[in-house]
Amino acid sequence: MSKKGKDDKDSKDGKDIKDMSRRNLLKAGTAAGISAALGGPAVAHANERHGGGFHGKKSRDRELTLVNGRIHTMDDRNSVVSSVTIRNGRFESVGGWGWNSGGRGEVIDLRGRTVVPGLIESHTHFVSLANRPGYHVAQWELANNVAEVLALLAARRARGDVPEGQFITAMGAGTPRMFAELRLPFLAELDAAVPDRPVFLYQGGGGPARVNSLGKAFFESVSNPTVSVGADGSIPGGNPNQANAALYHLRIRQTFEDKKRSALDSMAFSAQVGITANLDQTLVAVATGTLNPSTLDPQPNHALFNLNHYRMYDAWLALHAEGRAFVRLQMNFLHNQGFIPELGDLDHQLPELRERLKNQFQFFGDDMLRTGAIGEWAAPFATPATNANGYAVWLEAQRLCAKARWRNENSQPGSPTSTDNIEQVIATYEAMDAEFGIKELRWGLQHADFATPGQLQRLKALNCGVSMSGFRWLNGVPRADGLPVGPQFPQIIASGIPAGLHEDGVHIAPHNPWFALHYATTGLNVLGQQINPGQQISRQQALYAYTRANAWYLNREDDLGSIEKGKLGDLVVLDRDYFKASDADMRRIRPILTVVDGEIVHDSGVLRRDRRHD
Ligand SMILES: [Zn+2]
Repeated sequence: MSKKGKDDKDSKDGKDIKDMSRRNLLKAGTAAGISAALGGPAVAHANERHGGGFHGKKSRDRELTLVNGRIHTMDDRNSVVSSVTIRNGRFESVGGWGWNSGGRGEVIDLRGRTVVPGLIESHTHFVSLANRPGYHVAQWELANNVAEVLALLAARRARGDVPEGQFITAMGAGTPRMFAELRLPFLAELDAAVPDRPVFLYQGGGGPARVNSLGKAFFESVSNPTVSVGADGSIPGGNPNQANAALYHLRIRQTFEDKKRSALDSMAFSAQVGITANLDQTLVAVATGTLNPSTLDPQPNHALFNLNHYRMYDAWLALHAEGRAFVRLQMNFLHNQGFIPELGDLDHQLPELRERLKNQFQFFGDDMLRTGAIGEWAAPFATPATNANGYAVWLEAQRLCAKARWRNENSQPGSPTSTDNIEQVIATYEAMDAEFGIKELRWGLQHADFATPGQLQRLKALNCGVSMSGFRWLNGVPRADGLPVGPQFPQIIASGIPAGLHEDGVHIAPHNPWFALHYATTGLNVLGQQINPGQQISRQQALYAYTRANAWYLNREDDLGSIEKGKLGDLVVLDRDYFKASDADMRRIRPILTVVDGEIVHDSGVLRRDRRHD
């Protein structure tokens, strides 16, 4: 069953897998290498990269040249060139390379393939993916049906590096709507795919979960708390949430080395789908006002999106220090502390935000890893009519950010019938600008999906940017009144405001940007229903939102977002032409080569390399 699922998925890549298996055989000479290559392009490739020690300290004199491509630079003239050279991490020349120009380093013949700038995600909870317990299979969000999920799990086992008793896991993004059968695999199916390692699937941000027989045996053996598992391997969500209790037992068994491995796997997955830079929106475990990190360690009632926000970056930071991080990360700080009565008057509310603004540097770091600023909320949004105390705290949070000269965001999508909450945000931004001046701070509005043209112009006048929700394709359903579920892409783009596009993974939505690009250009949900009638934009506009506009949103438009001389060397070679593929095919795009900082960080093995030295 698993083999059939894999072959159904992409027969063209199937041929490439065989090519790669031969090369791996020669190169690695290990049984693990062969079985990995047979397992599927996604997982096999991550193994090849990690196993090869590729991501060490970078040498001082690096050069990579790509020739014979259709390289969409996304510069101001929308130039398309055939060659590009990246030297020591930055684009050295764009166009104009010939075989006689004496290139150094590695030269790759693209044979006409389409290239786009590395995609940038402007709103994700990505570092949660980097903390997943078990040998995590992020690729399950790319599966179309149960057979493909099983094939990916089997392929993960076939890599041969999962120790006995250790879990193979897949969590988050996967929801039954993504799979043709509209369900997760059953216990018997999981047993058939992975008979000799425990398996744990956890759906969305809060369960339910599903295990195989070994997984069932493990969870039936634990205590404090116990976990109840159904005969069919199901572990219910709900209250009390048994799936979260199960997650807890896996989390408390994670070592720091486990977390580093998970972080590397998450980077490999990001590179595999073409996202070369992520703006992470930190998730907060609990909002009691405590500044004691140990109280935020895993608890049995924590859902997948609860993490210790003091400690969740540690593995990534360690990898970065070792020169092994290979996808760019910018960390926004999100604050869940609303009105907490025990803290007393307004001056004593928002303790964590106050400490953050006093003691943290914003936009501090290097090209691979840096802080951002305030994430999608500095305090939970509240309106004066429904929650006066909450509103007072929210307003104070805006004031504190403005006074501290920090960048600040809010997250308010509105709806087809109400933009009141967006109005509150914009009116407050205007008040902050009048009092403190915020135009040079580049504040933002996430999920600006139903902002009116007038509201967009007011935001633009404040030098704000917006980011549009690309994830509605997954859980969005047609509205009874026929109105679009949003975003209203054309009017946002027409406003001229910097407008990024995001997936908001990795719990409620996948990380794969091609789903969002498909949605922005077609309005079709995962079931093929039109849910956003009349709100489509062109492929060029959608890609611009995922590259140039998102670079602006990250305050990095001088370094990222387009293929231009002097910018950082991030690009993606695609397996099909984004601009010409059918709608159905465009949704299935997979990068065959991903380059970050001039280094190849994902290689499906399709392109043969021709190495030249001077
Ligand atoms: Zn979010």
